[in-house]
Amino acid sequence: ESELLNGKLVKSREMYDKARVHLSNGVASSYQLRDPWPIYVDRGEGSRIFDVDGNEYYDFHNGFGAMIQGHGNPVIGKAISERFPKGTHFAVPDEDDYIVAGELSQRFNLPKWRYTNSGSEATMDAIRIARAYTHRDYFMKIFGSYHGHHDAVMISISEDYDKIGDPNHLKSLPYGAGIPKATVPLTVPVPFNDAAALEHRIIEMEQEGNPPACLIMEPCLMNMGIVPPEPGYLEAVRDITAKHGIVLIFDEVKTGLTIGPGGATQLFGVTPDMVTVSKALGGGLPMGAIGGTEEVMSVVEDGEVYQVGTYSGNPLCVAAARANLEKVLTPEAYAHFDDLNGRLMEGCTDVVKRFGFPGYAVGFGAKGCVTFSPKKVVDYVTFREGQRSELNELCWLYAMNRGVFMTPGREEEWTLSVFHDNDAVDAYVSAFDEMAHDLMKE
Ligand code: PMP
Repeated sequence: ESELLNGKLVKSREMYDKARVHLSNGVASSYQLRDPWPIYVDRGEGSRIFDVDGNEYYDFHNGFGAMIQGHGNPVIGKAISERFPKGTHFAVPDEDDYIVAGELSQRFNLPKWRYTNSGSEATMDAIRIARAYTHRDYFMKIFGSYHGHHDAVMISISEDYDKIGDPNHLKSLPYGAGIPKATVPLTVPVPFNDAAALEHRIIEMEQEGNPPACLIMEPCLMNMGIVPPEPGYLEAVRDITAKHGIVLIFDEVKTGLTIGPGGATQLFGVTPDMVTVSKALGGGLPMGAIGGTEEVMSVVEDGEVYQVGTYSGNPLCVAAARANLEKVLTPEAYAHFDDLNGRLMEGCTDVVKRFGFPGYAVGFGAKGCVTFSPKKVVDYVTFREGQRSELNELCWLYAMNRGVFMTPGREEEWTLSVFHDNDAVDAYVSAFDEMAHDLMKE
């Protein structure tokens, strides 16, 4: 199986040709590129999307995980259409701002919040706040993690694993061109699920006179499939960072609101000093948020740090976020995600076992994936060692050709929405089953 949708992407191809005239690569963002050309979407409806050629898919891509409330959710639609006639932008506060902050405080166990327009802005501002709070320039991240596209975090995301250095001293490697050489060493990567390597590197940095301001991490990695924290790891990270006066930032842009009502913070029961949330927050509109303790956020309150943005707290986005949190992402919604994800993971596990596939299903809440690795993946090295990119590719192709829309590449995890049902999940499993069947037959 080598061809995507067997000649059924004619209009997408025409649009691609037109789009390339004035849009670089014919797309709005490099992550929307796809061989042989991108699929141009016409509309979404609940759990499904329809492309411009009339092809229909169950959407498991879900806008990189932002659409857990589903396409065209009437609750979000009502909030937006009630807000619109009253005005969509003032750059002054409104009531929804503090209602949403109160809801987020409860869910993530952190008292003080600010808003941004994206996940990247949230991580950028969170790191600045941590730097101001600690008066330190260096900071740490997990090797292989993605935290957005600003310079400080476009470091040590993806590189051949034999080039990354020894686990106690991983290299700081820029991801793509245009990142100033001078800033690269300020971002120090450490391996996931290795508390000893973390402490080792912190002590080394302290001895060099460069103690880190913060550690920014996804508490459950979701940018190399899904890699959960090993038991005790997050607790150890919490202790070590506290002991060394390092601000612990959980980047919950993906995990927050998808894997449980209060994200990984609530699910794993470890509260960081700061948290960043975006994607599933805005009900499909662009919105990000930063939460923090009173102490850390004091540098914002006393005016030391400018945490700003013309569109931060945009009324349309915050109204959608409020409806999303209050009326869509309810305990029933999370019970629905858990049930459906259980069915999906069981279905995939069954296929893996039946065909003797090198892999396993992993998931939480609305998120999950099949990791194609013979060994358990615990960090970037084991991820790269076990990675079967040709299987990822084939899985994507089989799914797409059978009406199951997926994100391509190494972030191949699925996102469910409140409108996904057994039929959607069974379509996913059946495409996977067919791939396994055809592959093992050869
Ligand atoms: N942090 C994480 C963990 C992410 O997965 C992403 C986006 N995939 C970002 C930050 C950046 O978010 P955005 O694309 O909204 O800037």
